[in-house]
Amino acid sequence: MCGIIGLFDNENVTEKLLKSLTTMEYRGYDSVGIALIEDTGHLHVKKGSGRVSGLQQEMTLLRGKIGIGHTRWATHGKPNATNAHPIANDNIAVIHNGIIENHDNIRNELGVIQWQTETDTEVLLHF
Ligand code: GLU
Repeated sequence: MCGIIGLFDNENVTEKLLKSLTTMEYRGYDSVGIALIEDTGHLHVKKGSGRVSGLQQEMTLLRGKIGIGHTRWATHGKPNATNAHPIANDNIAVIHNGIIENHDNIRNELGVIQWQTETDTEVLLHF
């Protein structure tokens, strides 16, 4: 079962995000990711297949007060870094638990030319 965490604080949330995801590891997952709005305003996304600990080193230098994190249990698309959540563009980062049953219909209706993942979740990014 996937895990989702969102944090908004007066101090850096990087460590808390990693700790929260680690706490939810018992639920089971196959890939992991974090999106952080850095103090510079830049939306930074880190994703990978495997464990939360795989993100640890890359996250230590990042600083931000708003972030979201996800441990994914893949239902649509391989459990790899591309399909891991957050699924993001320059301004929006989406994480989602469960299945969007009608994602194929929505994909067709949206008419997006270039999809970045194999997930059902990505349709949420293009509304
Ligand atoms: N259906 C989504 C996916 O495969 C979310 C899976 C989950 O709940 O972790 O990316």
